[in-house]
Amino acid sequence: MKAAVFKGAGKPLSIESVKDPTPGSNQVVIEVKRCGICGTDLHGTEDHEGALAIGTVPGHEYVGEIVAAGSKVDSKWKTGSKVTGIPFHTCGNCIPCRLGRPWQCAKISIVGMQEPGGFADYVCVDTHNSIILPESVDWIEGALIEPMAVGLHAVKMTSGVNAKNILIVGAGPVGLAVAYWCRFMGGYNIVVSEPEELRNTTALKYGATATINPNEVDDLSAEFLKISGAEPDIIFECVGIPGMIAESIEFATYGSEVIVVGFCTRQDFFVPAAAMAKELVVRFVLSYHKEDFEFIAGLMASDRVDVADMCTGTVGYDDFAQAFEDLRHPNDHCKVMLAPD
Ligand SMILES: [Zn+2]
Ligand SMILES: [Zn+2]
Repeated sequence: MKAAVFKGAGKPLSIESVKDPTPGSNQVVIEVKRCGICGTDLHGTEDHEGALAIGTVPGHEYVGEIVAAGSKVDSKWKTGSKVTGIPFHTCGNCIPCRLGRPWQCAKISIVGMQEPGGFADYVCVDTHNSIILPESVDWIEGALIEPMAVGLHAVKMTSGVNAKNILIVGAGPVGLAVAYWCRFMGGYNIVVSEPEELRNTTALKYGATATINPNEVDDLSAEFLKISGAEPDIIFECVGIPGMIAESIEFATYGSEVIVVGFCTRQDFFVPAAAMAKELVVRFVLSYHKEDFEFIAGLMASDRVDVADMCTGTVGYDDFAQAFEDLRHPNDHCKVMLAPD
């Protein structure tokens, strides 16, 4: 099969012929229809300690249809069924796996990192970590479930966003998903702070009630207060670069919550006393639960969630490596997807 292969930091992904996957006993192979490019893919292909191994096929925001099933797979996983899921291979038997929280499985191996990923014609997935999508969920929607689940999980990990004043720092795909679910779950003022104006426009479409360009104001907190008439109850840090936690602590008011969603693998510095003085709840969150995928798929199937426009570009293999590289620099894209066929 064809796949986009990582050849080392600073080199574009290479479209090559690689071995077809064979399903394990509790796995299915899906023919990939769409696979979104994530900030994690870009980060994993940069030069640092946690970079992907050379030869990895990245991609974990996949959707596709079943073409092969392992020996122990239940008959409900039929050839042609639409599938997406949590991109982990796990044991399937431990308590976290049974509860749909495979992130905590001791045997976790991540698709697109340690396992071949979705930037390929086919990808092999665990049935216990996957969901069968209703027919009415289209390919683009299906591939957006994973990034939307990141935001949903973060919102669910707060004390509740209902009627709260919320500041979202950063309007990349994660910040947008957070804004979306804050609105969905009844947030009051949902203010996004983002220097890219095009992203701010998108944020307003997907749940933000107001946006701030931090480069154009002297004092973000004062601006938030002016817009909302109150200080933020919850701050979501959705950027993931060093310094952002300290900044979020600075914006926070006494007793509020800081939810760290932006994935940062570098050393970061903040002064604990600054957070202590405000008796903040600082919560670090990551990934999602299986029920998040099921919830979003159900809402999409009943047309209660319409986020298809978050996909701002679809490319085939010919343009994929370039499209992937282009996302490393400031751009006005929200989500770009590979369509292998
Ligand atoms: Zn992702
Ligand atoms: Zn497990």
